[in-house]
Amino acid sequence: ERIISNEIQEEDLSEELSLRPKMLKQYIGQHKAKDNLAIFIEAAKMRNEPLDHVLLYGPPGLGKTTMAQIIANEMGVQFKQTSGPAIERSGDLAAILSSLEVGDVLFIDEIHRLPRAVEEILYPAMEDFCLDIVIGQGSSARSVQLDLPPFTLVGATTRAGLLSAPLRDRFGVLSRLEFYEVVDLCAIVERTADIFQVQIEKVAAMEVARRSRGTPRIANRLLKRVRDISQVKGEPSISIQTTQQALKMLQVDQEGLDHIDHKLLLAIIDGFKGGPVGLDTIAASIGEESQTIEDVYEPYLLQQGFIQRTPRGRLVTSKAYAHFDREVPES
Ligand code: ADP
Repeated sequence: ERIISNEIQEEDLSEELSLRPKMLKQYIGQHKAKDNLAIFIEAAKMRNEPLDHVLLYGPPGLGKTTMAQIIANEMGVQFKQTSGPAIERSGDLAAILSSLEVGDVLFIDEIHRLPRAVEEILYPAMEDFCLDIVIGQGSSARSVQLDLPPFTLVGATTRAGLLSAPLRDRFGVLSRLEFYEVVDLCAIVERTADIFQVQIEKVAAMEVARRSRGTPRIANRLLKRVRDISQVKGEPSISIQTTQQALKMLQVDQEGLDHIDHKLLLAIIDGFKGGPVGLDTIAASIGEESQTIEDVYEPYLLQQGFIQRTPRGRLVTSKAYAHFDREVPES
């Protein structure tokens, strides 16, 4: 497993509970999303109504689940959690919906992966707070309507475009989470160190932040590894030297790139004169699936401007050449 993967890993699970900020004011960064939600939450509370349905979208590890829990905490209601792939049949969703109490937050992670038939149950539930279910089979089948208490659906997805239009249209609040600024990640690293009850030098926290690919989940994971090495050395406070040494051992470079990123960039530089080259050709040349490159490897490299997407394929930028101390070729 890549240490810089933004997907949740086994080792993240043990700290997940203690690291999650509980209220909006502890949620670092994401100022736009946070300020917007703060207003909607306050307005809903003033009207004594549940919050409108919220869709949170953005890459893994940026704090969608955390934000969903905060919404429930701020509204003072129960939080129930499930995910698109976990709900296989309409009955599963009907059971969850009918267990909700007034105002509850139902969080559906990876909501774009809900089966179509299940998704259709959600439409009347979101719109009119009612459940249309069919009882019986064949000629004796009849449809019954059940009332649901008003509730808030919080959906999370990595890309809003993956959602069907009818589902997307039923969310009143669409909130996009962005990769974090280094200063915000640094604050997250310092907060996590505090929870771990370890000291960390400011420059060391900045170093972890810079290499964390804009993602709190990665920042926390890197900090944990750095802390282990610092503790073994018996340092009173995590130093910049130890941080750099640990990150070197973990093969995470100054920009947060690892060997897989290097392999991808160098394949385009060395094999295809920097591109443009088609995704499938790159995939074949490094022995990976095109889909994996597109979904997992590429987003951060694109966001950081190491590669560009052009109509003729992927193009490596001068920033990538500079990263490897290479000259940009003439033509
Ligand atoms: P997602 O649901 O988008 O994959 P999570 O909500 O699970 O992301 O967040 C991943 C980890 O990052 C969590 O352990 C959480 O503690 C931490 N985290 C996320 N956002 C923040 C934030 N704004 N401030 C502090 N920690 C955060």
